[in-house]
Amino acid sequence: MKKYLLLLLIYIFWGFQLPAAYAERPVLILVYHSIAEYKGTGSKELYVTPENFEKQINYLRDNGFTLLTFDRWQDRKKVKKPIFLTFDDGYKNNENVYLIFKKLASPQFQPTGTLFVISDFIGRENRLTSTDLKRLAKSGYFSIQSHTATHVDLTKTKDFTHELRDSKEMIGRITGKPVIALSYPYGNFNEKVVEETKKYYSFGITTTPELFFEKGTKDELYYLPRIYIKYSTTLAEFARIVD
Ligand SMILES: [Zn+2]
Repeated sequence: MKKYLLLLLIYIFWGFQLPAAYAERPVLILVYHSIAEYKGTGSKELYVTPENFEKQINYLRDNGFTLLTFDRWQDRKKVKKPIFLTFDDGYKNNENVYLIFKKLASPQFQPTGTLFVISDFIGRENRLTSTDLKRLAKSGYFSIQSHTATHVDLTKTKDFTHELRDSKEMIGRITGKPVIALSYPYGNFNEKVVEETKKYYSFGITTTPELFFEKGTKDELYYLPRIYIKYSTTLAEFARIVD
């Protein structure tokens, strides 16, 4: 009899503990820029080679991670090991992400990522075109979101309408999908920026290098932190970051 009572107690204990443990689990958002070989232009640390990137995605696949985009934000508590991969600036070389995702996708592993594009830069040299974005959005591997219209420092701009509203509308027209997340250029934001962002978006993404611990505080979804994956990040370091 005592044995059953003990089992019952264990069952009750776990029953109460599990949801709490889930709720406290931090959310991990990674930020990348170029996925390409570094050829000497721009900052090297903003590149990750396709070879390293593939190893990182392989690691996520082999270790049971679920890759999410912001339209599936509510799923973060339902899936195994949620992680958000984001790519800023809309570089043409993000096509490499598509190729690697396609290569590693399986019925058990559906890679997805968020491309934060600068709407006025679409189709410029080295940037994705609207045809590219349409195709990438349709592929099911990507959510295309906004990184403003001109990559302005939002704490200094006066033209929030163009940077936030026009950018959202233009990207939405290209992909035919909702634009709900904004990544702040240079990671710069203040109260005014958040107030303006709230008019058009459900999420504001910073580059504060932390994990996101949900506290239920006001506007916390407009201060989402992200961790940089750099050129110099080794696979061992990557494993430490995500685990
Ligand atoms: Zn940027």
